[in-house]
Amino acid sequence: MAWRSSGHSNTELIENLFRNGLIKTERVRDAFMKVDRAHYTPHQYAAYEDSPQPIGHGATISAPHMHASAAESLLPFLCPGSRVLDIGSGSGYLTAVLAELLFPAGPRTEDAGRVVGLEHIKELKDLGERNMGKSERGRELMGDGRVEFVVGDGRKGWIEEAMGEKDAGWDAIHVGAAAKEPHKALIEQLRSPGRMFIPIEEKDGFGEQYIWVIDKDEKGEVKYKREYPVRYVPLCDAPK
Ligand code: SAH
Repeated sequence: MAWRSSGHSNTELIENLFRNGLIKTERVRDAFMKVDRAHYTPHQYAAYEDSPQPIGHGATISAPHMHASAAESLLPFLCPGSRVLDIGSGSGYLTAVLAELLFPAGPRTEDAGRVVGLEHIKELKDLGERNMGKSERGRELMGDGRVEFVVGDGRKGWIEEAMGEKDAGWDAIHVGAAAKEPHKALIEQLRSPGRMFIPIEEKDGFGEQYIWVIDKDEKGEVKYKREYPVRYVPLCDAPK
């Protein structure tokens, strides 16, 4: 897949992903167009390749086609006012794309919603912030609090104390590292309705991982759907 969608510019990469059916909707395409992947990878020669790249601390920026798949899957839950949690935000690239999907151009409106990037390595939380801060739009979104990067253990999700119980939780949760299980705290923090996109390692397997799409409906009933095999870095303890 990598050789088919790579491009020489951000526009070319995104257009190729769209033409090859990896980005399926114009809404997702337009959001990706607004975020320059070169701001998020230290490997400039490979910025527009459809491949994962190391970003330090054992982390990688995922391949654009994986980010596309995640964004397409979560799309029905990315509406005006939605609250979105990006666990294992790493480079900050997908956090920025999710923000573009949520927030129309221009200054913050009342009830704008929120995107939080959650990292367990402080240096990577800072990296995401720094990368997003390379564009004026990124600085605007972080400056007025629509987007925030925080440090914590993604297996516990992220609870915002300031939010009342009714308003807490997340319409969409993206997990960018492979979990051992669908962590209970994450399911609890999903709103009704809400959706989580999460790679999970197979139980009693040989390290195989699959994307799972976990939906909580209006009544709070949770449904699990196993999608396709993937390879992510583990959702694990922070290094000492
Ligand atoms: N979405 C990111 C993916 C980065 S790789 C990107 O495309 O840039 C996975 C990330 O998950 C790493 O940055 C790693 O530090 C983070 N991670 C691993 N275990 C974690 C945990 N328990 N809590 C929060 N983040 C974690």
